[in-house]
Amino acid sequence: MIVMGISKILSSIIFGGSAVCISCGRKLRRERFSMIDGSVGICSECFKTLKFTKRGSSFAADGPITYLLSPLEYNGAAENILRAFKFRSDFKNGDIINTIIKEFLEGYPQLHAFDRIIPVPLSEERLNERGYNQSELIAIGISEALSVPVDTDTLIRIRNTVRQSSLPAMERAENVKGAFLAQGKLSGERIILVDDIYTTGSTMKNCAKALIEIDAAEIVGFSAATKIRKESPLLI
Ligand SMILES: [Zn+2]
Repeated sequence: MIVMGISKILSSIIFGGSAVCISCGRKLRRERFSMIDGSVGICSECFKTLKFTKRGSSFAADGPITYLLSPLEYNGAAENILRAFKFRSDFKNGDIINTIIKEFLEGYPQLHAFDRIIPVPLSEERLNERGYNQSELIAIGISEALSVPVDTDTLIRIRNTVRQSSLPAMERAENVKGAFLAQGKLSGERIILVDDIYTTGSTMKNCAKALIEIDAAEIVGFSAATKIRKESPLLI
């Protein structure tokens, strides 16, 4: 279902000239691509490496997170697209991710009942350096699909941390411990906590703990892609 939908969106093929694959960077004739907006595309070989997770399933998550939803596995083209979005300000890639997420969310109508969408915050220093928070842009896409508001005020990062991806799994938990603070009250609210990638879960777990401290009733995790392997049926 999801793949069919995405193919439909990506299939306005334009003939003639050449284009660059957003994932592998190869320049190919446009007819070999699935094009987006007539200017960028993903080649058929990279498209094949996009691994969509099973619809109607969730992933086990750590700490107070009830479960994790994630449309993509973090490897192949998904890894390339998310890296370009995160580190090279490639917003076209962000659009692609949000297109995939919006289709995915059609299978989870129960999320409309949630109260807020909270993205994992960056430190002020990192935000100034990068100019945007990729998780916030993903959260905005989710908000458009679910009509649930995005909240970027409640959860803040109180200290800068070493980039999680640069650390071995064992050190990641320590790196983000106590890095987040939640302000105000979320009395009985249900929260969708958003990050771009879920790997060890340390970041989201620490964010969720902070939200529980100000009385959030339930936290569901959402990441564009995940490395978690343990898939479980969605029991709602
Ligand atoms: Zn490619």
